[in-house]
This record gives sequence, structure tokens and C-alpha cells, in this order.
Amino acid sequence: MERSTIVRVHEGLHARPATRFVKLAKGFESDVELVKDGKAVSAKSSVKLMLLAVKENQEVTVRANGADAIEAIEALIGYLENPKAGLDDEAPQHPANDAGQEAMPAPVPQSAPAAAGQANGLRGVAASEGVAIGPAFAHFPPDITGQGRMLQAGEIAGEIDRFRAAVAAVQARMDNALAQDNLSAGDRGIVAALRDIAADDSLTGQAEKAIEGGNDAVSAVITAASTIAAEFSAVDDHYLNARADDVHAVGRQICLVLLGQDDVSLENIPEGAILIADDIGAWDLARAPLKRIGGVVCGHGGATSHIAIIARSHGIPAVLGLGERINTLRTANQVALDGNSGHVIVDPDAAVRADFAGRVEAAAKERAGLAAFKTVTPKLADGRVIEVAANIGSLEEIEAAQEAGAMGVGLFRTELLFMRHMHLPSEDMQAETYAALAKAFAPYPVIVRTLDIGGDKPIAGIEFPDEENPFLGWRGIRMCLDRPDIFKRQLRALLRAAVHGNIKVMLPMVSDIGEVRQTRVLVEECAAELKAEGVPHTGFDLGVMIETPAAVLIAPALAREVAFFSIGTNDLTQYIMAADRLNPTVAKLNDVANPAVMSAIELTAKAGVAAGIMVGMCGEAAGRPDLIPTFIEMGLTELSMSPASIQRAKKTITAMVTESGAAGK
Ligand code: PEP
Ligand code: MG
Repeated sequence: MERSTIVRVHEGLHARPATRFVKLAKGFESDVELVKDGKAVSAKSSVKLMLLAVKENQEVTVRANGADAIEAIEALIGYLENPKAGLDDEAPQHPANDAGQEAMPAPVPQSAPAAAGQANGLRGVAASEGVAIGPAFAHFPPDITGQGRMLQAGEIAGEIDRFRAAVAAVQARMDNALAQDNLSAGDRGIVAALRDIAADDSLTGQAEKAIEGGNDAVSAVITAASTIAAEFSAVDDHYLNARADDVHAVGRQICLVLLGQDDVSLENIPEGAILIADDIGAWDLARAPLKRIGGVVCGHGGATSHIAIIARSHGIPAVLGLGERINTLRTANQVALDGNSGHVIVDPDAAVRADFAGRVEAAAKERAGLAAFKTVTPKLADGRVIEVAANIGSLEEIEAAQEAGAMGVGLFRTELLFMRHMHLPSEDMQAETYAALAKAFAPYPVIVRTLDIGGDKPIAGIEFPDEENPFLGWRGIRMCLDRPDIFKRQLRALLRAAVHGNIKVMLPMVSDIGEVRQTRVLVEECAAELKAEGVPHTGFDLGVMIETPAAVLIAPALAREVAFFSIGTNDLTQYIMAADRLNPTVAKLNDVANPAVMSAIELTAKAGVAAGIMVGMCGEAAGRPDLIPTFIEMGLTELSMSPASIQRAKKTITAMVTESGAAGK
């Protein structure tokens, strides 16, 4: 018996919907299959369902055979057509495992002067600022291999028992981890995604078949995991590709139990050591003794990978994305790294050691001296307060921002929220996140930037065209206005969150006044919908980022339409100078201090001040002590930066006022 339908599950049968579908299917005795394009898979395996890569609006057939076939088809078709009416126990959505995940258009810190001593030097992504030197702690978990011999017929049943016990142990370990209160929401999602795979028949079924064929359990797991991972890698879907890493991770855990080994642990990392790894799972790093880690150098990872975020929020200097070159550090004794410039020096000579030791000491002294500025509210001679706010991209970073003395959030990058999930985040989930931010910083403002995803870094659920020049392409507000389904969900969430604190909203990549007007229409539409639905909400100030030359040139007109400007110097510099912010060969041109860029900033400030609106800055330049006085003289009254720069910026502003003879704080 079978019935066909069009799938209405938003974003298709990705991880969570697949798990829900399987849970429903398992409630029936009948054999149930889902068929797409002539390919049938068991509806009782979430791995197989995910691999079928069923997308929203595709036609599928549910086929059932057994006593309760009619009921099974009824229920499963019902779910596919109206997923919201299905199970009501939807768990929070799972972040993707971030292994090797690259960044959104990256907030690449601007290059500081090169680290001293380039001998044995490498350069990667400057992911978390600060300098460090210390003993190398190489974390390269060994490859696992099977016994390489065929089992005797009499050994097979025992090997299957051993295998089942290992799977049960891994599942129990993951359930235990999930039961702990101290696991952050992000980490919980990662573990839950792994647990789903460990509990799935695909991996265990394939492994058992291989054991029945005479393979030892470890070899069987390795083969089964590799086969399934290869299938995930082959699917034309960015997020399903990432499941390959999850499958390998689960296979590895099962093998370690079978071998009676513990995974290589970070627990014994010595005080001040530099952690060297090809990749570190966010879960592993979050559980490591972070206070002892002096620095992190990785083959994988970009400036907004989970490793970078964890490192930044704990003040650990990090250089990531070294690729294959990480292998040259496997045998290093000592490593020096500069998280501002991305330089890594392997086994530095005496001169470099002395240079780094001096810089580390100076940094520690500076930090201690800056702590007094945490609670300072910088004011100009005329009494105007300069808000020194934080740039953050996740709730995990709130604490670091507060610790630093942030006067609110000047830029909340919402991209991570979208990139971490295998689906587009729901309105509820977004509303909760924005509300948590608003509450954490109230009464200070929290400026949430609407989705700024670029064509070069696609996210699940949005089909990006291939583009010759993604930075000049379909990104930021351009994409959002073309996808009101996505944009309105975010705007509705922001209107709801605004009830809980001082939420402001800003639009990225604006280059035409029509983009602001169209957004306003959508905001009004969303507010009217929420009102009709009886959902509590309130309005917010709408501002724009000034990060395109066009926005600078129409700044006077823009200023009449918005509540504030925030200058995005990272993009503004690359567009004014026509010098790619990610291309080290043109790094010299990509200089915010170039007169061309400074004059664009001045034009913007003039237009904003003339219109009486707030002019702020949230590009990396906002934290530069050498430029802050000029920005303030131009009329900027808000500077937003990574938390690590906040106290230094407050000191700079205070000194500026004191030096000019006016009252300080
Ligand atoms: C900028 O362009 O300056 C900015 C703050 O945005 P992002 O770095 O996220 O592009
Ligand atoms: Mg930008």
C-alpha cells in the first residue's frame, strides 16, 4: 500500500525532521519505506532518510506493508504535509558539528605588524588576539585500525555481543553528557546529533553485517562508518556533507570502547602550553582546562569557527586554518604565536623567544592596568558619553563582553545563529536568542544586525547562485529582501524580543535607499501580523551599516530615513580601496587609515551629525587606539569592538579628554 505527496517540511528531511519521521514510523509494526525518484529507503532509519536528501516541495511516496499499514501511511503523510501537527516534543534544533566549518564573510582582524623573527614562521587566520609562547602540546589522536584477521565461525556471536555492548556504552556516555546541566546549548546540540547517529540502525546494522562476514568489530565499524560518511559527503547539500564528520566521530567512539582505550584527552595539558591540533571538536575544547591553555594553533577553522569563538571568549590567542602545514608542528618543542597577525613560529630562536616573552609580559601588564577601566563611562568634555560596546556573534560571548565592561552590544552578528544549524533557525528560537541578549545588557542597547550572509559562504536552506564575485553579489540586505520568508521571520523575532530590552536593528550592505524603505514596509507588515495574532511585540530603532561607497555617497539622504549609522570599516575599506579583505597579497592596500577610507568615514560622520542621528562604528578599526581620537573628533559617539579591546578603548578616550585639559570620567 502506498501514497504520494508533496513534502511541506520546511527545509526538507534534515536531521531533526528525519528523527521525528523515524520516531513516528517506528510506532507502527508495518515495514515502512519512503520513496524518492525511484529510490526506496526504510523510514525507520534516520541516517538513510537523511541520505535520501528529501527537500521541501519534492514529491515522495510512503509505502507500508503490514497490519497497520493504513494508519502508518496516514500518520506519515500527515507529518510530511503538516509537520507542525506532528509530535509535540520538538527538541531545540541541533547546531551542526563545526569540524572545519568556515566562516561567514569573516571579520578578519586587520593585520598587525608581522611577528618578529620569521624563521620557521607560518601564517594562518588570526582568530583570537594576543601573543603567546610556550611548550607545544600536540593533540593528534592516533588513527584506529582493526585486527586485520578474519574471525573463525565460532568467534562471530561473541564479537557481535562485544560490538552491541560497545554501542550501548557509547550511547549511555552520550546520554550522560546530555543529562549534565553544565553543557551549553551549542554543545548539547552537537552531542545530541552524535547520539542520533549512534542510535541509528544504518551504522550498527552495516557493522553487524560485516562482523557476520568474519570481520573483527573494530574493522567492521571503521568500514561501516567510512561507507556511510562517504555517502553523506557525496550528497549535494552542504549540511548533509558535514554529517560525514559526525559519523566518523561516532565510529571512533565505538572503536575506542572496543579497544578499551580512552580518547586522547586535553586534561593533562601543561600550564601555558600551546595546543597544536589539526582540528578540535567544540565539545572537546569547551571541556578542556581552558585556563591552562596558553594558545591554540589549528589546521582547521576560520575566524568565526567555534574554536575561534571559544578562544576569543576565554582570551586565548589563536591562529587557525593552517591546513596541511599544521603537520610541521607535530614535533615542535616550543611555539610562539601572534593572534593579531596570524603568525606562528616553530621552535623560536633566542631572539624571538626574548621578543615574545617581552610582548607577553607587556600584554599582561597592560591588561592589569586596563582592568580599572572596566567600569568607566567615557565622557567628552561637553558631557557626551561615548558608548564602548561589544561585537559578538553568540550568547556564549555575553560573559566575556560583560567582564570587559561593554556598554551594550554594537554589533550582534546573526550569521552564526544561521550557520550553526542544519535548518534555518525558527522564529521562536531567534526571538529567544535576541531576548536573552536584550535582557543581559539592558538598559544598554543591543544592536542586532540582520542576516549578512554572502554568496561565498552558503548556509543550509538558502540556495546561493554561483557567483564570480561573491563580495559584490547576493549578500546581506540584497538576499534578505529577495527572501521575505527568511527576512520576515527574523524581523518578527526582533519585534518580539524588543519587548525585553533595548533592541535596535541594523541592515548590512545597504547601497540604495529603497532597501531601507522596503525593509520598513516588511517591519510594518510583521508588526501588523503579530498584532493580529495577539503576540506581544514592540518597535525598534532601525539603522544601517555604512560599508559600501554608495552608502557613504548617499549618507545625507539615508540619515533622514534611519535612527543611526554604524560604520563597517572591514567592508568599507575593501570596497573603497577595491582590495579584497581576505587576500593577503593586497593587505597593504586594505588599510582603514588610508586617506580615501578616512575621508569616507568623515563624510558619513558629517551627514549623520548634521541629521542629528547617532553615528557609531563596528568594524575592527573601532578598537584601534591610534584612530579612536580621530573618529571621535569626526563626531562618532559609539564604538563597538571585540570584548578584548574594550578597556583599552575606554582608556584611550579617557586619556584624550584628560590630555585636552577637560574633565575625565
Ligand atoms: C564590517 O564590514 O566592518 C563589519 C563590521 O561587518 P563584517 O565584518 O561582519 O562584514
Ligand atoms: Mg561587513
